[in-house]
Amino acid sequence: MTNNKTLCPYCGVGCGLEVSPPAQAGRETNRDSQGNPMWKVQGDRTHPSSQGKVCVKGATVTEAIAKDRLLHPMVRNSLDEPFQRVSWDEALNLVVGRIQAVCKSPGADAISFYGSGQFCTEDYYVAAKLLKGFLGTNNFDTNSRLCMSSAVSGYVQSLGSDGPPCCYEDLELTDCAFLIGTNTADCHPIVFNRLRQHHKKNRDVKLIVVDPRTTSTAQAADLHLPIRPGTDIDLLNGIAHLLLRWGYFDSGFIDECTNNFPAFADVIKHYPPDVVAGRCGISVNDLETAAKIWGKSSRVLSMWSMGVNQSSEGTAKVQTLINLHLMTGQIGKPGAGPFSLTGQPNAMGGREVGALTSLLPGYRFVTNPAHCAEVEEFWGLSAGRISPTPGRNALEMIRDLENSAVKFLWIAATNPAVSLPDLERTKAALRRSPFTVYQEAYYPTETAAYAHVLLPATQWSEKTGTMTNSERRITLCNGFRFPQGEARDDWAIFAEVGRRLGFVEQFTYANSAEVFAEYVQLTRDRLCDQTGISHNRLKTEGPLQWPCSESGNLKPGEPARLYTDLKFPTPDKRAIFAAYHSRGLAEPPDQQYPYVLTTGRLYGHWHTQTRTGRIDKIRKMHPQPFIEIHPRDAKKLGIQDQDWVEVRSRRGYARFLATVTQAISPGTVFVPMHWGELWADHAEANALTHPEACPDSQQPELKACAVQLAPVKPEIVSSEVLYKATEFKELTNIQSS
Ligand code: SF4
Repeated sequence: MTNNKTLCPYCGVGCGLEVSPPAQAGRETNRDSQGNPMWKVQGDRTHPSSQGKVCVKGATVTEAIAKDRLLHPMVRNSLDEPFQRVSWDEALNLVVGRIQAVCKSPGADAISFYGSGQFCTEDYYVAAKLLKGFLGTNNFDTNSRLCMSSAVSGYVQSLGSDGPPCCYEDLELTDCAFLIGTNTADCHPIVFNRLRQHHKKNRDVKLIVVDPRTTSTAQAADLHLPIRPGTDIDLLNGIAHLLLRWGYFDSGFIDECTNNFPAFADVIKHYPPDVVAGRCGISVNDLETAAKIWGKSSRVLSMWSMGVNQSSEGTAKVQTLINLHLMTGQIGKPGAGPFSLTGQPNAMGGREVGALTSLLPGYRFVTNPAHCAEVEEFWGLSAGRISPTPGRNALEMIRDLENSAVKFLWIAATNPAVSLPDLERTKAALRRSPFTVYQEAYYPTETAAYAHVLLPATQWSEKTGTMTNSERRITLCNGFRFPQGEARDDWAIFAEVGRRLGFVEQFTYANSAEVFAEYVQLTRDRLCDQTGISHNRLKTEGPLQWPCSESGNLKPGEPARLYTDLKFPTPDKRAIFAAYHSRGLAEPPDQQYPYVLTTGRLYGHWHTQTRTGRIDKIRKMHPQPFIEIHPRDAKKLGIQDQDWVEVRSRRGYARFLATVTQAISPGTVFVPMHWGELWADHAEANALTHPEACPDSQQPELKACAVQLAPVKPEIVSSEVLYKATEFKELTNIQSS
């Protein structure tokens, strides 16, 4: 517990942090609002990704780590009963007994596991080995399903493999940054900071931002395209149309490195500028300017996140964006490429380890018999043990709770009672679960209300493991505090369950370094080769990017890009043009529900506030949920700034204070997604959203649904709806004492 370097546990930027103990000689100890001593945190100047910079979330993270922790295993027979504290032995016997009973009848397919991008790679790996290998079910999904599964699917289909080809150094080498569906300034602040410095210093560098909102990212743009929600593919095909018309394409690259260009060219001829501008709600001039900037730039870097991925055509959007890179040869070179920004700190690690229902470790697929055979052999399983069928994803888990196909639900380090779409339906389904294990560091969370067993997990600061950030850089997150209460590491809980199920040899690890050492062997000779990386090397040399094979000679901090030889991991080494027409929104506005609701994140908060809701500075920064409405719509509805507004969709309702602002386009409204029942009454964005998902990635369209708005009489609501955690805390104290 002496090494003080680690990684920020919030977003996929993956900033390096240095922490120092609370009590230092001669200084007064800082304490959090519950009186716990607080560790000091600052940016790690030696970390290549962040170079010492850190945003408000990273800078305040230690304020949340000791508060409202789940300290002991707890159980109850039904959701109406209070939890009773039990020993680990009792809790694990109950869990293992239930798994054995379900495996016997109706079978392992009745088990569903839902994990998290907050996991370390080691946590994912042991869970994947247990579920996909030894229990024989691919029903292992994570909250990355909601975040970037469309990016995975798009990369795989266009380039032959997952894996963002770029690195952060490209932020300072590009001459055109094309940001679509990402409020980078607020959601990936340190990436934006690096890009913005480069943009400010170099007048010729252009920044294009595509977003229906005038976000802080859009405010910094040379060109902001506030397109209507659901018209991304129109825009991208429209830009491609102009690039082709004006001769801004790389015929050598297209001929030698790609397939399917004719089908793509056939599609984009239907996207002339006047049609595209009309559909997108932008001017022809702005569309042409965007195409000209892209066409004339020698290094184009595109970036995207949830605004593209969270869509019923998310994969098609990702591929249509990659098309622009393929037609102009903007990939595999410094300063260029399609760069997906990941949400969670280790969503990338999850992709590498196989933590989605269709994946296996080392960028393998359950649908590929050779991949299954390789992993079976490595894990010492009999042939055919790994199911060749993708398992039940997050949305199917809800469906199958409804139809009673799920008999054992295991949720870890995530909060689906706030984050899944169509929340009333989700909560009703969670209520139906006959047996739910919830493994978490904090209590209360909204999801704890649906659990029969609570297993206390260590979290960042208490466990040692690795995480991979958006630029494929792996950092060792050192544990620097002792676990609170009886909390155990996630990987250790999975391993203990594995041993109690009888797989003693296969799940015995002395520490997480041993887990990592085993896992990296499954990356050997794969695109994401990490065989040259170990905990010890990370500790002594610092963070490393993959590919990093045993024989590779990449130095720490040296940038690694993919596809620099212009060969792609497809059978004929060529990338593939996709040919998609826009399908638009799954639920377009109509007479009854005339507005498009889009959801998003705020600078200070993280997801469902499990940590940031417990940090005073951040709560003061974002004291309450709100809805952004354009002045024209507000006038039409008789809504003034700071009036209460009731928002209804076909699935539910919520109430927010109005922020009347030009920052949102007419016809569109915006609410942040951070507030669940724990923090405010009737302010859940996902009470309104629908579960329609991309057919390829199964990522739901959390970014757009049709709603109606009405002002609410002031006497119906009061502003005393916020921060109710005290009530829950009292409950915790009673039950755990
Ligand atoms: Fe943490 Fe992301 Fe902020 Fe960096 S940018 S400090 S990783 S939240």
